[in-house]
Amino acid sequence: MNTSTTPESAAPVQGEGAETKPSNFLRQAIEHDLAQGTYAQRRWGGSPGDGAHHAAGMADPAPVRMRFPPEPNGYLHLGHAKSIWLNFSLAQAYGGACHLRFDDTNPEKEEQEYVDSIRELVRWLGYDTGYADVPGQPGVVQPHLYFASDYFDFMYRAAEYLIEAGHAYVDEQTPEQMRANRGDFGTPGVNSPWRDRSPAENLARFREMRDGQHPDGSMVLRAKIDMASPNINMRDPAIYRIRRATHHNTGDKWCIYPMYTFAHPIEDALEQITHSFCTLEFEDQRPFYDWLLERLCEGGLLQSPPPRQYEFARLNLTHVITSKRRLRQLVEEGHVDGWDDPRMPTLAGLRRRGYTPEALKLFCERSGISKAGGWIDYSALEGALRDVLDPVAPRALAVLDPLKLELTNWDALFGAGHLEPCQAPLNPHDEAAGQRQFTLGRESWIEREDFMAVPSKGFRRLYPPHTGGDGQPKEGNQVRLKYGYVVQCTGFEQDADGRVTKVLAEVIPDTKSGTPGADSVKVKGVIGWVGAHDGAAAEFRLYERLFQAEHPGQAELAEELNPHSLHVAHGYVEAGLRQALQAEGAEPRPWQFERLGYFVRDRHSPADAPELVLNRACGLKDGWKA
Ligand code: ATP
Ligand code: MG
Repeated sequence: MNTSTTPESAAPVQGEGAETKPSNFLRQAIEHDLAQGTYAQRRWGGSPGDGAHHAAGMADPAPVRMRFPPEPNGYLHLGHAKSIWLNFSLAQAYGGACHLRFDDTNPEKEEQEYVDSIRELVRWLGYDTGYADVPGQPGVVQPHLYFASDYFDFMYRAAEYLIEAGHAYVDEQTPEQMRANRGDFGTPGVNSPWRDRSPAENLARFREMRDGQHPDGSMVLRAKIDMASPNINMRDPAIYRIRRATHHNTGDKWCIYPMYTFAHPIEDALEQITHSFCTLEFEDQRPFYDWLLERLCEGGLLQSPPPRQYEFARLNLTHVITSKRRLRQLVEEGHVDGWDDPRMPTLAGLRRRGYTPEALKLFCERSGISKAGGWIDYSALEGALRDVLDPVAPRALAVLDPLKLELTNWDALFGAGHLEPCQAPLNPHDEAAGQRQFTLGRESWIEREDFMAVPSKGFRRLYPPHTGGDGQPKEGNQVRLKYGYVVQCTGFEQDADGRVTKVLAEVIPDTKSGTPGADSVKVKGVIGWVGAHDGAAAEFRLYERLFQAEHPGQAELAEELNPHSLHVAHGYVEAGLRQALQAEGAEPRPWQFERLGYFVRDRHSPADAPELVLNRACGLKDGWKA
């Protein structure tokens, strides 16, 4: 898993149709089942339920059903985006349905806050998850939102059925004995002394467990399969445990809870899922998944054929961590400013950083679906964002590290206080977006790096008259103020420490952009600027990767983190931007600040704050050329 792979450089993907997408083994499995009619006879009861419930329903209008099953014990991250995209987009591509199911069978870790956040972000990604479950027409993706804890009654019934059919028993060994008797890869396990109790005895014991007559951890219900199986997961896995905990949905109704490996296949089956996609670490669980559902179909509790599980490689991105546990550690130890810190790979963090749903989906698409793990290069994530934003992002001028520029002949040329109207396309790729208006006056802000008192070789921006390396006097340089005039540098001012405080230049008359004289003077440099008279003050938050380690997660966090992941700058943005940002409302959209990158208003900071707060989503691949 330590090799970096470049994502498939797929052509930009258009449309959502099945035919336009490259194939992969999951699509092949779906297409195979559709061609064979594997699930064609299935019925749908309009909501999740047992075999009888569905049998009484209509022919399933969804030819395939998928699900995204988050555990509500943390916030969604980029890895989840991959799973969300994969399940919803495949369901969409084949005219099926995709369920958002909260896998909330563990009473200890789950919270409403996570449920709300997950719902919001799945919807933000463009997948509706309302409660409505309208029986619809084939080809229409219906919203489905379910909670696994609503299935506890069925799970209990399924457990009793397994006991009665001789497929499960209550084991009273201690956890240590159980572990010792499980064996290992080379050694078969040893049968529990409780394994051969009669179904009636087991049933009585299991009901005592349910009724709270035994302490936590004193016994478990186990499936009775094969203690000598080469797959350790088939050596009589535990399926129910005693745990006195208040559940966020069912309160204190239960003191026994199903194990994940037992609950998950049942959840899929009750919801009539056809293709259950999960990450590779569940591959060894698949035999139990199949065993369990076959038993329950045999017993008539579930409709046949049951769902099937398919595994794909999880998403790994260089310099990024996608593990809820590690992300929690980052927050709790204060390395970041909360779950939605723009450096976090959480969906909330990426959204605040300026990532759009389209960019994330394009990234998921390009990262491909495979059986082989690997690392995607971080640049693929930024690449997807740039490719999505470039055609649509409105443009503006900004100055991150401001230095004053004074046009000393301004008053003489135009009269004191004159403001020259300038205009620029809001988006050069979209003429219909129109022009943005701003004004140039005697004083502007320019980037400090656009001036050098003594120019280095090849420097084409502002520099004053000086003596060259050859001992000859050189003229001050001429550059264009983007969308404005050509100016010629005449000098500069500095403070006692030699720090430049102001650049002086003269306007060359009749050279304004867009006028007939614009080309009369050829210049090699173009620089950005913001009017000192009307520019809006802004704080720019510039982010670098959070982890310097290429494959983080292997050492202590502190060693892997990049100590310079945030840099804050204070500067100015084009005057009209403030109003434009106010008009965006609650969902700020990314802008391209020419030559500087893509920025978005920080959603925690109001658009009418005295100083705007802007997050840099990513830089530009290329700066502008003269
Ligand atoms: P974590 O490892 O961060 O705790 P998880 O897998 O435990 O994640 P769940 O809420 O159980 O989190 O996951 C919901 C779904 O998201 C699962 O189907 C899981 O396979 C999928 N998923 C989680 N991380 C990734 C990833 N990096 N790439 C692809 N899918 C993922
Ligand atoms: Mg999990």
